[in-house]
Amino acid sequence: MSESDLRACLAEYFGARLQSDVVLAPLTTYRIGGPAALYLEPASEDDLVALARCLRDFGEGVPVLTLGRGSNIVISDQGWPGLLIRLESKAFSFVRPGEPPTSLVTGAASSLPVVANWAARRGLSGVEFMIAIPGSVGGAVRMNAGAHGGATSDHLVTVKVLDLEAAEIGERKASELELSYRHSNLTENSVVIEAAFELVPEEPAEVKARLDGFRKHRAETQPPAVQNAGSTFKNPPGDFAGRLVEAAGLKGFRVGGVAVSELHANFFVSDASATAQDVYDLVHEVARRVKDASGIELEPEVRFAGDFNTGSVS
Ligand SMILES: Cc1cc2nc3c(=O)[nH]c(=O)nc-3n(C[C@H](O)[C@H](O)[C@H](O)COP(=O)(O)OP(=O)(O)OC[C@H]3O[C@@H](n4cnc5c(N)ncnc54)[C@H](O)[C@@H]3O)c2cc1C
Repeated sequence: MSESDLRACLAEYFGARLQSDVVLAPLTTYRIGGPAALYLEPASEDDLVALARCLRDFGEGVPVLTLGRGSNIVISDQGWPGLLIRLESKAFSFVRPGEPPTSLVTGAASSLPVVANWAARRGLSGVEFMIAIPGSVGGAVRMNAGAHGGATSDHLVTVKVLDLEAAEIGERKASELELSYRHSNLTENSVVIEAAFELVPEEPAEVKARLDGFRKHRAETQPPAVQNAGSTFKNPPGDFAGRLVEAAGLKGFRVGGVAVSELHANFFVSDASATAQDVYDLVHEVARRVKDASGIELEPEVRFAGDFNTGSVS
């Protein structure tokens, strides 16, 4: 078995929808990163099962990555060496009332602000924190994204997941996902397809007022959602990564085309000359210097995908 067997299997089912060497930079908020060797946008559950069967039968050794809105990921300058899956936007972007009617069901490709607005309009509270997170529902479940004291895990009830090893779609309870701060037990073998949230009824105007407050706070305290991937490091227990980076004197510190933001020290912002390797080197150098200054080891929240040189800058 080899990548060419996998390619043949996928091409038989997907035809011209299977693409090669698709540049991924425009699909990420950092706008950097090389091409995916194989690229697919499944548009139905049948597509997902078909692709999982090909992977199960011919995909041994071929790395697989699911990309959402690319807002928490840095893709290597060399690209992604295997198969990249991106749920087709129209098929998997929806929000509808669930059962009971205080719940909602949303496709994994839905944008988080769209979900927050949908719930607010119907007077449902619990996902307001999503308003300023430029990711997808699938990425939010995987990362247990959160903000303003709320997290995806607070109101998540079930998720529909494609298991790439079993080539089956099944439902998992939120309690099975070991959701904690920016963590779930979902691996690259699981593609989130849909999520259901149970919310709390409240006056729409009050929910909307909270959304507006969160949006305003964001605009004042963080760089806009371009050329960065949000918080670079997880906050260590009892402290803030941004505070530690700033205390180490690293605001404005730069490697190549990427610098620690002057506005928020846990955001690393790139310019047009940046490479993914610059981001990788800056993240590791900042972590090293923070460790020297404070003794605290910061853990990246941003994910790195593909190959990076592991040496650090001097
Ligand atoms: C300006 C800015 C502000 C941000 N603010 C916040 C914040 O306040 N709180 C917060 O938590 N995050 C924040 N983020 C980070 C990011 O938006 C979230 O982590 C978001 O949930 C990632 O979703 P995504 O679709 O972009 O995922 P991606 O970046 O595409 O992927 C992230 C991870 O999720 C996996 N993944 C994506 N889709 C699926 C799927 N369907 N099934 C299985 N796995 C999947 C990927 O393989 C990868 O491991 C911010 C980012 C930016 C740029």
